[in-house]
Amino acid sequence: MLKNRIFLLSILFPFLLSAQKSPKNVVFIIGDGMGLAHIYAGMVANGNHLQFERFKNIGFSKTYSANNFTTDSGAGGTAIACGVKTNNGMIGTTPDSVAVPSILEIADKNMLSTGIVVACDVTHATPASFISHQPSRKMNEDIALDFLKTDVDVVIGGGRKNFENREDKRNLINELKTNGYNYAASLEEVKKIKSGKLAGLLYDGHNPPMPERGDMLPESTLAAIDILDNNKKGFFLMIEGSQIDWAAHDNKADQIVKEVLDLDKTIGKVLDFAEKNKNTLVIVTADHETGGLTLPKGNISKKEFSASFSTKDHSGVLVPVFAFGPGAENFTGFMENTSFKNKLIKLLKLKN
Ligand code: MG
Ligand code: ZN
Repeated sequence: MLKNRIFLLSILFPFLLSAQKSPKNVVFIIGDGMGLAHIYAGMVANGNHLQFERFKNIGFSKTYSANNFTTDSGAGGTAIACGVKTNNGMIGTTPDSVAVPSILEIADKNMLSTGIVVACDVTHATPASFISHQPSRKMNEDIALDFLKTDVDVVIGGGRKNFENREDKRNLINELKTNGYNYAASLEEVKKIKSGKLAGLLYDGHNPPMPERGDMLPESTLAAIDILDNNKKGFFLMIEGSQIDWAAHDNKADQIVKEVLDLDKTIGKVLDFAEKNKNTLVIVTADHETGGLTLPKGNISKKEFSASFSTKDHSGVLVPVFAFGPGAENFTGFMENTSFKNKLIKLLKLKN
């Protein structure tokens, strides 16, 4: 009898273990240009604490591209989304322009729901890397067209002009509606949509910076999760804090803090969901560091620091990776930025 039970347990135990460690949903959060100093600037300004501290699995990502020590957001996004190093400026392809399916596209093929929520034009390099395959990130109108070639369920961000004010005179917003999308032109309209597909193009160009953008990012994230979570098979959602990078290009530490705190608030909302849901893996990383930022002096109790930038462009240093939820232990230590895709395919048990 006892022998039988031990036998049964030894058979079941690996299954029980693997059942615990396999997520149903993935929320992949990218802070564009967000290095360790950017996060720490936010932490100091916020009274020595951030939602980031809820992550217990932490690692580092190597961000170099196929043709440069220092990546741009096209090659950086492509590495994360498609699992290949490409040349700077390219979107969703190898250096010789062969399209490579992204983790979002593979999740979609496997009947998971998919979403993109960004604080910029949705055709900008980072979101584009998840749904588009183009030789140049500058081809915004072509990238907008690629949104119609995918079955992405939820898209929220800016960039309306690339859909309706185009050289080819097509109105892609009408075409999205024909394809079954609910269209929302404001955050208020986004919040009314509770199911189905959603194209939320909230601004003509890029989203405004913080604080003008308000709670666009955290609230759109919650709205997206609300819709995507209707699918019993699970979902893949990419969220981008897009403008940390731009503040860092401007070498403006105050603005970096505002953008990091906006992303941190969003991360808090996602972690609250993931804690309750228990089947959601949350990953936060950056595509690269911007500004070569360091904080040589400061005062924790006064929430003050001095910032020193070494460049107005990106730098080549490692960026941090934070993971929470089932499978999070796979994202510790040092990793290539190309390693996320295959790890996620394995964890979500997707057919490639
Ligand atoms: Mg970006
Ligand atoms: Zn940049």
